[in-house]
Amino acid sequence: MALIVQKFGGTSVGSVERIEQVAAKVKKFRDNGDDIVVVVSAMSGETNRLIDLAKQISEQPVARELDVMVSTGEQVTIALLAMALIKIGVPAVSYTGSQVRILTDSAHSKARILQIDSQNIQKELKAGRVVVVAGFQGVDESGNITTLGRGGSDTTGVALAAALKADECQIYTDVDGVYTTDPRVVAKAQRLNKITFEEMLEMASLGSKVLQIRAVEFAGKYSVPLRVLHSFQEGPGTLITLDEEESMEQPIISGIAFNRDEAKLTIRGVPDTPGIAFKILGPISSANVEVDMIVQNVAHDNTTDFTFTVHRNDYHNAQQVLEGIARDMGAREVIGDVDIAKVSIVGVGMRSHAGVASRMFEALAKENINIQMISTSEIKVSVVIEEKYLELAVRALHTAFELDAPTAKGD
Ligand code: ASP
Ligand code: MG
Repeated sequence: MALIVQKFGGTSVGSVERIEQVAAKVKKFRDNGDDIVVVVSAMSGETNRLIDLAKQISEQPVARELDVMVSTGEQVTIALLAMALIKIGVPAVSYTGSQVRILTDSAHSKARILQIDSQNIQKELKAGRVVVVAGFQGVDESGNITTLGRGGSDTTGVALAAALKADECQIYTDVDGVYTTDPRVVAKAQRLNKITFEEMLEMASLGSKVLQIRAVEFAGKYSVPLRVLHSFQEGPGTLITLDEEESMEQPIISGIAFNRDEAKLTIRGVPDTPGIAFKILGPISSANVEVDMIVQNVAHDNTTDFTFTVHRNDYHNAQQVLEGIARDMGAREVIGDVDIAKVSIVGVGMRSHAGVASRMFEALAKENINIQMISTSEIKVSVVIEEKYLELAVRALHTAFELDAPTAKGD
């Protein structure tokens, strides 16, 4: 008999019919003899609706009250799902975050889980009940309701699985697993049977949106086996695990991630002296702007060019700060570009294979795509290119690294 934590996202509980479908699914597992804890999100669109309501009162609603409000979305779905389970003969009981006692810090709207009291849940499981827990919410030391940040129900699911030492945490969603890349961009993208936490983390932080990054971090840290599955289709989904595949057949690259969220800034003709990077990036960081990729050129005539990328939302802010720095340093000019995209190949296979980066560059060269910046880590290579070539680049790389699904008959 296994203990399974199952998390259902907003679209999976988006209507009464769907909630009843979820109940039927949970019943199947329980009929198998498994102990089940279910974590649910709010019905799709509900959290946004609540936030909009609050914004009609105030552009910047008081953080504590906003959490009191948005946490109601999940409170509705736990009750509905518990009712649906009871209706089909499955003993069930709902719990809010504070009833479980999912203890968090007091950082409203982005709280971190500090501790989970598993006693209540254990007691209910022993009594033969399915426990339905509200995702996304917790309670702080003083009893204030907190929320974990958008998409936070994934984190609740994983954290509960860790606290209960569950055999698996299953994340049910509207896709049937993690793909080699976004199937909307590459029709031949394939579902992965397995991916490592490390790879998933890279994929998530590089723009793949299947799982909340914090949930993956948490799962990796506590070695919680995590599986992404489709809510209403049968299938094995994608297992996210610790162990790296030994097989020689395993492709070197697991996936290709991309995003259009960044912008590039260059400060030209800065004096090549010690402390330059700090003088430039210090004020940028003080302005609360996060920097992603950085390139500094080799100096000639005692000056150099310094380029970095930031989130597009921070572009104007960063540009202003940089203009100020340029004036102070007597740099030549500041140039910016928002029409860029970042494309990354990810795979633990890179550790044991040489020449992966050059294969990437070759594939891009063949399509005449100019690379503006490059950064690498042990298991990924990222490039910045002109945004309009993004889809072409992703497709070319998907083919070059042999990730394309075999062509269907009659295709
Ligand atoms: N309902 C919350 C949100 O929409 C949490 C979640 O769905 O995971 O962000
Ligand atoms: Mg979600």
